[in-house]
Amino acid sequence: MSEELIGREVMFSECKNVKADELKKDDIYKSTGFYQEKGVERCRRCNTAIVEIEHNECTCGQPCTYCTNCLQMGKVSRCTTFYHISEKNDFQKSIRPHLKWEGTLSDQQKQASEDILRSIKNNEHCLLWAVAGAGKTEMLFPGIEHALKEKKRVGIASPRVDVCLELAPRIQQAFPSISVSVLYGASEEAYRYTQIVVATTHQLYRFKEAFDLLVIDEIDAFPFRLDKSLHFAVEKARKKGSSLIFLTATPDRADQKKIQQGKINACILPARYHGYPLPVPRMVRERNWKKSLLKRVEVTKVYGEMKKRLEQKRRFMVFLPNINWMTRFSQVLANRFPTKRFESVHSQDDQRKEKVQMMREKKLDFILTTTILERGVTFEAIDVFVVGADDRTFTESALVQIAGRVGRSPKYPTGDVFYFHDGSTKPIKRAIKQIKTMNKMANQRGLLKND
Ligand SMILES: [Zn+2]
Ligand SMILES: [Zn+2]
Repeated sequence: MSEELIGREVMFSECKNVKADELKKDDIYKSTGFYQEKGVERCRRCNTAIVEIEHNECTCGQPCTYCTNCLQMGKVSRCTTFYHISEKNDFQKSIRPHLKWEGTLSDQQKQASEDILRSIKNNEHCLLWAVAGAGKTEMLFPGIEHALKEKKRVGIASPRVDVCLELAPRIQQAFPSISVSVLYGASEEAYRYTQIVVATTHQLYRFKEAFDLLVIDEIDAFPFRLDKSLHFAVEKARKKGSSLIFLTATPDRADQKKIQQGKINACILPARYHGYPLPVPRMVRERNWKKSLLKRVEVTKVYGEMKKRLEQKRRFMVFLPNINWMTRFSQVLANRFPTKRFESVHSQDDQRKEKVQMMREKKLDFILTTTILERGVTFEAIDVFVVGADDRTFTESALVQIAGRVGRSPKYPTGDVFYFHDGSTKPIKRAIKQIKTMNKMANQRGLLKND
């Protein structure tokens, strides 16, 4: 069925249910794989300038080449045809409420949610800067409700698959009468035409002028932050004059500056839902940590803090800059703490989900991880160590996100964060400053608990 083409711009090979015959219909708009802009040939899907590859053999038999930037989504060649049907917003207009969420918003959430609603009504842009644990998703509900009632199509995208997978069921639960689909690279599900789409930012490449409201979560996360073609995808996927909402817990330097200068319409939520301040990380010098932690761990400060917690049965996460070093360190720890239960996880780990689940169920005393767990995971009652915080993998935003793992639960709202380093860096100092600034702002606005 041609519903795969509504609000989308895709190749025949990307469609599962379209028959070749159907593509001849008049309402289907066809365009070439590449287009010319000021004498530069660009990929229509991702806007990247095309670099001619020699000896490219193509079935078209013409001088042909393809886009290497979006190759992982399927090959776009010079001879490619894209198909598109304009968005029809073929949804039920309703006066009855769709929203079936019965929680309550905190005062700052209420205010932010009104700001968002206003942006949506006026089809404006808005950046929501909400600290980890502020409760971002719920604040969107009134705005989404308004959009749905107006027959608008709603897109919610994040650079991270795990964030999408976590988000989709919550959205579906809040709006049970609305069809919600989830799109990501490895998804088994066939494409459906739905009023709400939850997707990775990469999936936006396949949309064209579809969304009246587009929300991008975790804009500071890799790869969205640095990838210009993903920003292009956002612009292509939304309708002209639609509303665009950006969400982040730690905007990058450029956005922080624009917010300070009042150049972007921003809404800042400095307090967590439970009203306790964010834990401020402590900087601890660990000289030559790469060697000392492997050779003489028992004399290090990291070891001292770990031992103390193991004795007190306080659980913790240890963030490390790379997989190789983590593997060696984990050997050292296995020898030192033979009776303790721990695991290490990284991006290429097949067992990642299971190990995270074990930590959640308190079957582990601690967990070693790369930055892969910097966002999205919540463990109760933990402390966090960053070992080698001076390593360049730990950006300002990664360090803030990592600190945000601590004290999320209202039952256990506090905890320790350590940045172990061998020489302070700008990201370390800026991360601590950012956290302190948010706490100060929360305090000034009277959002913190006084006990
Ligand atoms: Zn491309
Ligand atoms: Zn070709």
